[in-house]
Amino acid sequence: MKILVINCGSSSLKYQLIDMDGEKLMAKGLVERIGIEGSKVKHETIGKDKEVIEQPLKDHKDALKIVMESIVNKNYGALSSLDEIGAVGHRVVHGGEDFAESVVITEEVMKAIEANVEVAPLHNPPNIMGIEAVSALLPNVKQVAVFDTAFHQTMPAKNYIYAIPYEEYESYKIRRYGFHGTSHKYVTQRAAEILGKSVDEINLITCHLGNGASITTVKGGKSYDTTMGFTPLEGLPMGTRSGNIDPAIVTFLMSKKNISAEEVDKIINKESGVLGISGVSSDFRDIEEAADSGNERAKLALDVYETSVAKFVASYMSHFDSLESIDGIVFTAGLGENSPETREHVCEKLKAFGIEIDKAENKIRGEEKIISTSNSKIKVMVIPTNEELMIARDTELLVK
Ligand code: ADP
Repeated sequence: MKILVINCGSSSLKYQLIDMDGEKLMAKGLVERIGIEGSKVKHETIGKDKEVIEQPLKDHKDALKIVMESIVNKNYGALSSLDEIGAVGHRVVHGGEDFAESVVITEEVMKAIEANVEVAPLHNPPNIMGIEAVSALLPNVKQVAVFDTAFHQTMPAKNYIYAIPYEEYESYKIRRYGFHGTSHKYVTQRAAEILGKSVDEINLITCHLGNGASITTVKGGKSYDTTMGFTPLEGLPMGTRSGNIDPAIVTFLMSKKNISAEEVDKIINKESGVLGISGVSSDFRDIEEAADSGNERAKLALDVYETSVAKFVASYMSHFDSLESIDGIVFTAGLGENSPETREHVCEKLKAFGIEIDKAENKIRGEEKIISTSNSKIKVMVIPTNEELMIARDTELLVK
């Protein structure tokens, strides 16, 4: 079965066409600047030249139309007909407490996703637009929603209840949800395969370090605790997000600068993180380069970031009875997969726990590898994530 995987952002749309017979990637692409001047589609069918199409796209339906045309284009397409698409899988950010697993999209499911817009005002609306656009363009094809929050629904209450009045949880569902679940789940399954254990016996601390970043404790193959919270802002500092700060800073800034809730939200979501500290960039490659050429604030940004990753990993060890019961610490996503420096610096800060990295083994980018020495108390691994494949697998399973 051929599955189209779609990940809609507010002005972007990423897609992959995967042939589940052998789990082969057939085509992938990115639509940028939907609804803004300068819309662009970058399409690539594996084994053919890349194609860039520039034309105005007023909404996600317009964007998907071009995606579909690209997929069946005579010269640079991957299929001869859209009828070959067996199902469509969507990444949906917030499933709230309603979804602990992926589901086939029905009217009832759409209502539940819409109800969760209240807790995910930035994320769920574009996902809804993507689903509606596919319904309009491919009315007979089944669609599946795969939620970023679903994997974390197994967390015990002690790890998801915030110490604020309990009524706020009851009235507004304010609790920790956690995100990046599809990625944490994928690397959990891969780690089990690599270590030759069954998934329901595996204990890990998984570090998804990309533009957004989160760390999860996985116990018996299930999410037990995670750093992102009610929104994807909590936990680690990220490219532009502050991560954990004293909550009083929010009200202090509002009264000191006489700014609104929206304005302070913009500061902590878009102007903070390593961008905020360094003043250089939100991209870790730029910051590493600036740090190498002596920029002190870039060095500080990296140090704050790496220290924060190490502190969370260290605190998550308290979820286990002994170091021996932790099967591995996993690094994944943009930075986790591609930055030997970040991995080395984080692991150096964890040497009190007997963690020891093999510097030669660690010199890799984007490949699966155990990078700890044989003396290390806990194995450290790099596992490139593949959220799209995970979505395609769930989609196939549910529509079959
Ligand atoms: P997203 O959260 O957008 O999916 P990614 O997982 O693609 O993000 O991660 C993007 C981040 O990974 C960027 O900040 C980028 O700088 C970082 N990154 C990618 N490659 C490297 C590299 N070779 N060295 C350091 N950082 C890298």
